[in-house]
Amino acid sequence: MNSGGYETVIGLEVHVHLKTQTKMFCRCRNLFGAQPNTHVCPVCTGQPGVLPVANGKAIEQAARAGLALGCRINSESVFARKQYFYPDLPKNYQISQYERPIAEKGHIMLGDRKINITRAHLEEDAGKLIHAESDVSLVDYNRTGTPLLEIVSEPEIDSPQEAAEYLKELRQVLRYCGISDCDMEKGSMRCDANVSLRKKGSKELGVKTELKNMNSFKAVEKALEYEIKRQEKVLGEGGRITQETRLWNEDKGTTRSMRSKEEAHDYRYFPEPDLPRLVIEAEKIKSIRDSIPELPAARRRRYIVQTGLSEYDAGVLTQEKEISDYFDAACGMLGDKSSENIKKLANWITVELLGKLNAEGSGFREDVISPPHMAELVGYIGAGTISGKMGKDIFEIMYNKGVSPGEVIREKGLKQITDGDQISAVCREVIESSPDIVDKYMQGKDGVLGVLVGNVMKKTRGQANPAMVNAKLRELMGRRQ
Ligand SMILES: [Zn+2]
Repeated sequence: MNSGGYETVIGLEVHVHLKTQTKMFCRCRNLFGAQPNTHVCPVCTGQPGVLPVANGKAIEQAARAGLALGCRINSESVFARKQYFYPDLPKNYQISQYERPIAEKGHIMLGDRKINITRAHLEEDAGKLIHAESDVSLVDYNRTGTPLLEIVSEPEIDSPQEAAEYLKELRQVLRYCGISDCDMEKGSMRCDANVSLRKKGSKELGVKTELKNMNSFKAVEKALEYEIKRQEKVLGEGGRITQETRLWNEDKGTTRSMRSKEEAHDYRYFPEPDLPRLVIEAEKIKSIRDSIPELPAARRRRYIVQTGLSEYDAGVLTQEKEISDYFDAACGMLGDKSSENIKKLANWITVELLGKLNAEGSGFREDVISPPHMAELVGYIGAGTISGKMGKDIFEIMYNKGVSPGEVIREKGLKQITDGDQISAVCREVIESSPDIVDKYMQGKDGVLGVLVGNVMKKTRGQANPAMVNAKLRELMGRRQ
């Protein structure tokens, strides 16, 4: 994005909570939403004389994330102490990684645009301050020591919209790999954004500000938009940008200065003396790499290239791994795998099934209609055994009762009528009982054909094959074209 002769430069630092049973350096449960201060111990609260032990599962999750993001995994990395004081940090330092992170040099593709990832490093989260009343703040140390992965992008993102796209893609990859829920509202994914402006064409970076406190992708976008305008105004009036951290205020839609931005040397990083170097064997890295499922971008490409789905359909089907797995399972069970049938299957999943689940405010569930039942339903429609309209009625019953479409069809006698003689007989009846309409048709008013088709459908309780009815009526009336 650029306006007023400036270019926008954005870099994102994303923190995600890793899905593990226990915390990063102790055996406390890694739980969200427990009673405050019920999951704490001497290690995560930094009591004298305790020793941290790194959580193997968290290390594995971090490596998996790094590999899924195309990073190099360092066979040896180093934990470091980052010192600072804050009431939510009982140890007065955070164990992080500084000079040698676990993962480096990855990227995320946004269409044809490549956004490079500088690094991803392991660390522990701080506690949570709760500003309960105007003059009282409480602290909950349950979150202290939760395993965190910080993923830092290069300053290569050029608009607030692209920042949101990057976050969506990143979240999708991490969720596919089971690394984190990446729920911004629950704080299991957080994003800080660095933003600066520079004269168009200039290679030098301008002074940046860091934005914090955005609780949704939309908020990241809005905060960046606000901040870019603010910086443009300051620079346009001949002023200077101060390097600082600014807090986004969702209600006011503004950012305000929180503190001047610290430099790395303010934290006095040094290698954590209580932990050995973190070593990951090549074999372990290989087995983690093998555990990564097919990622969303690859699935989207496969759906478009191999099955001929539109980019939109491919996007909807891959938004969650569970939906994509469901589609793949049902697709494998289709008897007729023509692209027409696959497109039908995609529609039944994205429009009918997801539509219904969304309307109920439920996330994706495959237990309401199993993949084999869905494939069976689409099979009947594709083969002309039932019409699409009948399919919708059957779908409703399947959805509510969990039965197979075959059972519904048998029970209700819902088969589509495709018998030529039977259709012909009903068409004759309708023609004989509607001479006025037939006259109009014969005079060239094509529109009235729909009325006749409708009458045949009524007489057959919607079971006649509409295309056959259409053709038969035309044939019987025999109007010269
Ligand atoms: Zn603990």
